[in-house]
Amino acid sequence: MSNRIAFNPQDRFVVSIGNTLIVTTRSGDTFGHDITGHTADRFFQFAGAKAAFNTVDRFVTTMGNMLIVITQSGDVFGHDVSGRTIGPGFKFAGSKAAFNAVDRFVVTIGNMLIVTTQNGDVFGHDVSGRTIGPPFKFTGSKAAFNGARDRFVVTIGGTLIVTTQNGDVFGHDVSGRNIGPPFKFSGSRMAFNPEDRFVLTVGNTMIVTTQSGTAFGADINVRDIGAIFRLNPDLSIRLHAKVWTNPTIPIQTMLTRMQDVFGAAGIGVVLASSQDFTGTNIITALRDLDVVPTCPAGQLTGEQIQLFNNRDNVGEFDVVAHFVRTTSPALNGCASHPDDVFGAAVTQTASVWTLAHEIGHVMGLRHIDGENTNCPDSMPRCCSTPNVSRLMTGCSTNNIVGTPVLVQSEIDTLGSSSRTRPS
Ligand SMILES: [Zn+2]
Repeated sequence: MSNRIAFNPQDRFVVSIGNTLIVTTRSGDTFGHDITGHTADRFFQFAGAKAAFNTVDRFVTTMGNMLIVITQSGDVFGHDVSGRTIGPGFKFAGSKAAFNAVDRFVVTIGNMLIVTTQNGDVFGHDVSGRTIGPPFKFTGSKAAFNGARDRFVVTIGGTLIVTTQNGDVFGHDVSGRNIGPPFKFSGSRMAFNPEDRFVLTVGNTMIVTTQSGTAFGADINVRDIGAIFRLNPDLSIRLHAKVWTNPTIPIQTMLTRMQDVFGAAGIGVVLASSQDFTGTNIITALRDLDVVPTCPAGQLTGEQIQLFNNRDNVGEFDVVAHFVRTTSPALNGCASHPDDVFGAAVTQTASVWTLAHEIGHVMGLRHIDGENTNCPDSMPRCCSTPNVSRLMTGCSTNNIVGTPVLVQSEIDTLGSSSRTRPS
């Protein structure tokens, strides 16, 4: 299972830059997992320099695209990270940082290095280029002074976030050189299992990794922690997005909603690639895609065949979503595809659930039964009794309320699809 995160005993620090989670090891080898929405991709190894392999290296954090390593004596080293390459190490000029035995956590907010101590005092250093500014003490509240009860400290935006042993999460808004009073986040509790090993943030998502390498996440929205999702399910679908027209609802939003529905079924959705065909030098006719009415399986127009022939990056067991402007006749999406490439078209006016629904069809799911009770013979699919709690409603995903579900028989179908692979 190559999407397990930081499960080796030699894994030492886990941090993030952009949407990439970074694991440093005792040997100095560095590994990454790209995170798109609510699913982590398989690991890759960074090229370039080794990092944080000295036993005296005590803290690792990130600032912008820099990996920052602080030693027991307070020396601060940096590596610029560019794509999947770790740049050579350099030593910061200026002040030492976090060399006191009582220093417990080092995090960053903007260009500030923030050191919390055992007694809750918080110190900062402004970092300018490759120079560490002199230490200053924050005014205001103390933070993370409850000894072992405070287990992890991370940041999101300008907020310092403290996770406790029982899973309660507290925050302090940091404003300039002042630490705001503590507040407790509402919503999910985080990182309360003894086997939880690392906590980090990627964007507004808080991520908890465990000793076995399974990882969980929850989105933080202001002072609330959302529902916990499994970040790296054992099974996953690799999805490629080919964008002919950007849909009204951002692809990222549709993807994340799809990850939520499929994730609840134990199946991750990895965005394996995204290709932009919105430029002028492409076959514009395909943006308005002719389809066979009602999109019967295996029946394709010449345009659909042409569309699916664009298969850069798409591996044998992968799935592709083509985002087009319209279909003719007009639909939210159409799941007909050639036998040798699994995929669907999704239109500009698609609902937030269309991507998940159409890929559901591609994976073998059919519309649910029971939505067409007592329909007249003239209109056998009249949607007299729609079930808007199900992803595979045949009465338009526009009408879905809340997060729709997949039932066990549907989950079994997804699990047995050739497109669902061990992660
Ligand atoms: Zn459908």
